[in-house]
Amino acid sequence: MIEKYIRDVPDFPKPGIVFKDITPLLQNPECLKASIDGLAQAVDPASYDLICGIESRGFIFGTALARQLGKGFIPVRKPGKLPWKTASESYELEYGTDTIEIHVDACEGRRVLVVDDLLATGGTMEAALKLIRKVGGEPVAAAVVIELGFLPGREKVAPVPVHSLLRVD
Ligand code: IMP
Repeated sequence: MIEKYIRDVPDFPKPGIVFKDITPLLQNPECLKASIDGLAQAVDPASYDLICGIESRGFIFGTALARQLGKGFIPVRKPGKLPWKTASESYELEYGTDTIEIHVDACEGRRVLVVDDLLATGGTMEAALKLIRKVGGEPVAAAVVIELGFLPGREKVAPVPVHSLLRVD
């Protein structure tokens, strides 16, 4: 059902990239519900305590999922956005590096499910898993709406399992 509500936008954000736009999916109430229900069923909720969302589309799915399952939500954000003490992790992009941050008291001793909209190379997700470990949490699984199956994101994130609602090849 969700596949036809994901729009391919060529040359965004730069030439040669086909961006998967999830805004049609968010706009459609049945589709939004199906996505959150799908994520809720993908991983046994008894296996984790908290849901971590990666800025910014991971916040949309992660918070809705947390609310649905009665879990707490923790944000992983771009540098300089979190107000309290943070831990940082940098990761490689095609050109250069990027950094994400988490609050140091976000998830110590807790089991965490990490949610994002899309898994591509896996660099962002791997950095989020490292951040959770850095602050004493245990990342148990990753859940995404879309997985680009032609990229080795899943392998990069292993041994943490990746659950995706839609695999695009
Ligand atoms: P990765 O680090 O290469 O796996 O890229 C995944 C991150 O980039 C996620 O946080 C996504 O939100 C974002 N991203 C990369 N490509 C797309 C896309 O085509 N649509 C939406 N988000 C994307």
